[in-house]
This record gives sequence, C-alpha cells and structure tokens, in this order.
Amino acid sequence: MNARDAARKLLLATTSTEQPEWRTAFTTDGTDEPTGIAPVCPDEDHEPDDGSVYPCCPEPAIECDSHKVAAYLVELLNADRGAA
Ligand SMILES: [Zn+2]
Repeated sequence: MNARDAARKLLLATTSTEQPEWRTAFTTDGTDEPTGIAPVCPDEDHEPDDGSVYPCCPEPAIECDSHKVAAYLVELLNADRGAA
C-alpha cells in the first residue's frame, strides 16, 4: 500500500471520507495567520470562515510552522482530491 492509500484509509476513519477538503487552521495559539492545516469541519455550527480548531473538528489538525506552507499544502491536498 502506498502512502496516499494509507493516508486515505486513516482519513476515512477520522473524517468519514477518503478525500476530505482541507483548510488552513489556527493550530497554534497566538499566531497572526493560520499556520496549520485540518480537514474542513462538517459541523453546521462551525462557520466556514472560522479557522479555529474546536472539539467538533475532525482529525488530524497538523501544525506546519508557516502560514505560507500551510496554504500551499491545502492547495496541494485539495488538488489531489479525486486523483487516483
Ligand atoms: Zn469544527
């Protein structure tokens, strides 16, 4: 099993979909920009433009140490959705 398939199995368990949409997220307190990534939260009470991570949010929330890297990874991961 390659890394993509292995990750999709994990994501299926945590997000109920193998290929969740990703967002940038505030995974560290006190940063001006979201420096992490997380799957888009399906909770209807979680506003889509709220970049915080709450107990309602699916795992994994991943700290990337840079909002630019986080934004780039979100683009990559979302572009990969639907790819074989
Ligand atoms: Zn949430």
